Amino acid sequence: MLLDTYGRTATDLRVSLTDRCNLRCVYCMPEEGLQWLAKPTLLTDDEIVRLVGVAVTRLGVTEVRFTGGEPLLRPGLTGLVERCAALEPRPRLSLTTNAIGLARLAPALGSAGLDRVNVSLDTLRPEVFHRLTRRDRHADVLDGLAAARAAGLTPVKVNTVLMPGVNDDEAPELLAWAIAEGYELRFIEQMPLDAQHGWKRESMVTAEDILRSLATRFTLTAEEDERRGSAPAERWTVDGGPHRVGVIASVTRPFCAACDRTRLTADGQVRSCLFAREETDLRGALRSGASDEEIAGIWRRAMWGKKAGSGLDAPDSFQQPARPMSSIGG
Ligand code: SAM
Ligand code: SF4
Repeated sequence: MLLDTYGRTATDLRVSLTDRCNLRCVYCMPEEGLQWLAKPTLLTDDEIVRLVGVAVTRLGVTEVRFTGGEPLLRPGLTGLVERCAALEPRPRLSLTTNAIGLARLAPALGSAGLDRVNVSLDTLRPEVFHRLTRRDRHADVLDGLAAARAAGLTPVKVNTVLMPGVNDDEAPELLAWAIAEGYELRFIEQMPLDAQHGWKRESMVTAEDILRSLATRFTLTAEEDERRGSAPAERWTVDGGPHRVGVIASVTRPFCAACDRTRLTADGQVRSCLFAREETDLRGALRSGASDEEIAGIWRRAMWGKKAGSGLDAPDSFQQPARPMSSIGG
């Protein structure tokens, strides 16, 4: 098991498959100039399958989420999914993606064993999409979402980040659309993980702002606390149900005490937290011939040292990690 000194157990593994992306979301990446991870440092498919295998057979991991950067850019993604789905015990497999290319790939990913997807979409307006992502791919995302639903990669969840003065007026419209389309919408508070270090606490759109805006059009009823469990989203029933909306308030209502995450970067580093400032190298161990049990031991020690919280609740001492979100794997 992946235990830490605060009594938490990590059972949910986020695997970043690449730090590259075909969008340039303003809260994530700069327009240009970001240094990519060097190719020889990236884990190969065989290395990823081996590490996921160690996680599920020896460390109690039951959920594996592929992310990035943009995981659909990884050649051979379908094969990776298939090999991870063949592991015993079989982990639940999901993908966090911007959905560009999903229209083509969704059926094959479903057949390979992918259980579900989270798609990131911040706006229903193509011109705002361009402003937020610096690319004209709005229609591709909508097509990818529909393909995921058709391929049974459900529940299809949509992740939305609101930016002040850009799309923060769209919350009710997005929720009405998600309900009509059968997607589960979750708003994510913007976090200080952008490569350009442009995040400002004073101007971020908070969970409270989002709920206030949704309440102008919907009646929201908070779900019982215990149903949140280790899930980061607090959920509300919309207009009496059955539809729901989630808010991931990592900044204003952190859920660190219930965190069950462990993370593997595309270059083979274990991170115990998105905001960790330390990493533990598994790639070096792998490539120097460590056994599965030795790798499991290194991973256990890395997680044992997990800090109590992200540090975001102490603005004066908080320091942003050196790696941006796109390289950690969100
Ligand atoms: N490219 C894929 C995507 O966009 O879904 C996967 C990687 S992306 C880093 C994962 C998630 O992190 C997305 O939902 C994105 O909106 C979110 N994200 C990126 N930067 C963020 C930030 N600074 N604060 C909050 N969420 C962020
Ligand atoms: Fe790419 Fe996802 Fe970052 Fe947007 S949030 S730039 S889609 S990695």
